[in-house]
Amino acid sequence: MATLDSKVPKGPIKDKWTTYKDKINLVNPANKRNIDIIVIGTGLAGGSAAATLAELGYNVKAFAYQDSPRRAHSIAAQGGINAAKNYMGDGDSNYRLFYDTVKGGDYRSREANVYRLAEVSGNIIDQCVAQGVPFARDYGGLLDNRSFGGVLVSRTFYAKGQTGQQLLLGAYSAMNRQIARGKIEMFNRHEMLDVVLVDGKARGIIARDLITGEIERHSAHAVVVASGGYGNVYFLSTNAMGSNATAAWKIHKKGAYFANPCYTQIHPTCIPRSGDYQSKLTLMSESLRNDGRIWVPARIEDAKAIQQGKLKPTEITEENRDYYLERRYPAFGNLVPRDVASRAAKERCDAGFGVNATGEAVYLDFASAFVRYGTEQAKIHGIKDASEAKIKELGQAIIEEKYGNLFQMYEKIIAENPYETPMMIYPATHYTMGGVWVDYNLMTTVPGLYCIGEANFSDHGANRLGASALMQGLADGYFVLPYTIGDYLSDDIRTGKIPTNTPEFDAVEKEVKDRLDFFINNKGTKSVDYFHKKLGKIMWDKVGMARNEKHLKEAIAEIKQIREDFWKEVKVPGVLKEMNVELEKAGRVADFLELGELFALDALNRKESCGGHFRDESVETDGPQKGEALRDDVNYKYVSAWEYKGEPSEAILHKEELEFNDIELKTRSYK
Ligand SMILES: Cc1cc2nc3c(=O)[nH]c(=O)nc-3n(C[C@H](O)[C@H](O)[C@H](O)COP(=O)(O)OP(=O)(O)OC[C@H]3O[C@@H](n4cnc5c(N)ncnc54)[C@H](O)[C@@H]3O)c2cc1C
Repeated sequence: MATLDSKVPKGPIKDKWTTYKDKINLVNPANKRNIDIIVIGTGLAGGSAAATLAELGYNVKAFAYQDSPRRAHSIAAQGGINAAKNYMGDGDSNYRLFYDTVKGGDYRSREANVYRLAEVSGNIIDQCVAQGVPFARDYGGLLDNRSFGGVLVSRTFYAKGQTGQQLLLGAYSAMNRQIARGKIEMFNRHEMLDVVLVDGKARGIIARDLITGEIERHSAHAVVVASGGYGNVYFLSTNAMGSNATAAWKIHKKGAYFANPCYTQIHPTCIPRSGDYQSKLTLMSESLRNDGRIWVPARIEDAKAIQQGKLKPTEITEENRDYYLERRYPAFGNLVPRDVASRAAKERCDAGFGVNATGEAVYLDFASAFVRYGTEQAKIHGIKDASEAKIKELGQAIIEEKYGNLFQMYEKIIAENPYETPMMIYPATHYTMGGVWVDYNLMTTVPGLYCIGEANFSDHGANRLGASALMQGLADGYFVLPYTIGDYLSDDIRTGKIPTNTPEFDAVEKEVKDRLDFFINNKGTKSVDYFHKKLGKIMWDKVGMARNEKHLKEAIAEIKQIREDFWKEVKVPGVLKEMNVELEKAGRVADFLELGELFALDALNRKESCGGHFRDESVETDGPQKGEALRDDVNYKYVSAWEYKGEPSEAILHKEELEFNDIELKTRSYK
C-alpha cells in the first residue's frame, strides 16, 4: 500500500516554496541529456511542461491523441487566466488570490499548494507575454483585467473570448522550438493505454498509434500525465468531445490514488440543452457575468407564458423580473462563484420559473449594460441628448468589442440575436476538481509518476473559481514540475536507458492487446454511445447538481448494471490495425463506467455539502444562511484518496487531513 504523505515543506507559508526550491536536489545539465521523460498530453499543462523540461535539457517524448498539440481541449478556454499582479490597483495580492481560491474551493484544498499557485501566478503572465500571447490591453497599452466570480478584485487577464487558444499557441510555439532542436519527440495521434511500472516505479507506457492501430512501447525515467479532466463521464458537457479519463484511470488502476472524484463543477452559464440527440454542450464564458444580469420572471404566470411562447422577455417590465442572484447575494450579485450560481438557477427552474420550453433556462441580459456603456460613450464623444437608440447602439459596440465572438457563437447555435433579446443559459458539467492525488511535488502515489493540470486533484478544493484552471495548468507545467521532477530524477543519473524488452512491458502490452481484441471480437448489438448516454443520464439525474443518499445508492447499482451490460452487449465495428474511432471510444467509455461508480461512491461517503458537491441532507436550516449548503468541517475536512482494489466498489478510502494555519475556516458567504 502506498502512503499518503503530502510532503508539504515546513516553515511559514510565504517561504515554503522558495526555501524548498533552494534545497532540493538538482540534475546537472550533462546528466539531463541522459534522462528521458514521457509527457502524456500537450494541452496547457502538458505542453508547458514538455517545453520547459526540454528547454532544461531532458529528452522529452510527448503524446497527444489529437493531430496536433494545438487541438488540445485547452484551446476552448474562453474567459481568462488569473494572476495576482494588482495592475488595477484594487488591492490584490498573492495572499488575496490564495485566500479567494481556498475560500472559493470551500476549504477543501491544500493550503501550501494554493499559496504556491498564487505566488507563481504573476510569472505566468510575464512568461506568456514574452511568448507573444496577445492579452487584452487598455487604452494606454497596459494589460487589462476583468473580474470573475467569487472575488472582489479584477485579476483576470484575457484575450477576448479566446484566452485558451492564445495561451496554447504560446505553449505550442515553445514546444515547437524544442521539437525542432530534437529535444521533444512528438507523438501526435497516439493514445496512452497503460503505464508500465518496473520495481514499483513508473518507467514507461503502452500506446496505440491511432492511425495505424499499432501498439507501441515507450520507456522513460519518469512519466507525467497531463491528460485533462473527466467531465465527459456525464456524456453531455462543455468539454471537447474527445476529453476522457483513460490515462488518469489507468494509472489509478496501477497504484495512483484517485482523489475527490465527486468534486465536479457544473458551470452556470452554458447554452441550454435543445433535445435528446445532442452530443455536446457549449459554454458561454463566465466573463459575461461581468456585464450580463441574470433573471427569471418574478410571476409564475409570466414564466408559464414564456414557456408556451406566448410572451417575450422584453415584454416583462423591470418590477416583474427577479434578478435572483442580486436579490440573494447582494455583496457578489451576478459574480457569485459557479457552484452558488448554478444551484440558484436550478432552484428557480425547479420552482417552475425556467424560461424555455423545457423550463430549464434562465436569462442573461445585457440591456442595462448597453445603457450604462452607451451613456458613458455619449459623454466621451460629446453627444448631447443622445436618443435611446443611439445610446443602445454605442453600448452595443462596447459589448461587441468585449465579447463579440461569444455573442456570435450564441446566435449561430440558438438562432436568436442576443443583442436584441436576452441570452438563455443553464448549468452544465464543465470541469472536474477531483483527479489523481498528488503530493506537493505533483507526484502521485507511484514513484516517478506525476500528474498535472486538470487531471490532478490539486488546487481547487470542492469548487474551482473561474480563470483558475489555466493558471494552475501553466503553474504546474512552467513553474512547479520542472523543479520538483529534478529532485526525483537526481537519483536516476546513473540508471541509463530503460529497456522495453522486459517482462514488465510484455505483461502490460498483453493486457492492452487483450482488451482491444475483446472489443473487436465481441458480438454485441449496441453502440458505445448507447452506454455512454445511459451513464451520463444517471450521473446528471442522480450525481449532478444536488445529491442524496437514496439517489447515490441507486446510481451505484445502476452504473454497475450498465457496466455488466456493456461488456456483454457492446458492438465495436471496424478492425484493430487501422484508424477506428469506435474502438477508441469503447476503451474510454469502459473507463468512465468504472470511474462513474467511484464518483458516486465518493459522493455517498461525503455526507456534507461543500462546493460543487451539494447534499440535500446537509443544508443550513436557520439564520442568514438558511437554505445554503452546510459544510461539516468536524467530520469531512479531508481529501478522499481512493486506492483501487479490483472493483470501484471495493476501493479503499485514505484520508489526507487538511490543515488550515493561514486561513480561518468560515462559513462561505457571498451575501
Ligand atoms: C469551454 C471551456 C472553457 C473554459 N474556459 C476557461 C477559462 O476561461 N479559464 C480557465 O482558467 N479555465 C477554463 N476552462 C478550463 C480549462 O480550459 C481546462 O481545465 C484546461 O485547459 C485543462 O488543461 P489540461 O492541459 O490539463 O488538459 P487538456 O487541455 O484537456 O489537454 C489534455 C491533453 O491530454 C491528451 N490526452 C488525454 N488522454 C490521453 C491519452 N490517453 N493518451 C495521449 N494523450 C492523451 C490530449 O490529447 C490533450 O493533449 C474552460 C473549460 C471549458 C470546457
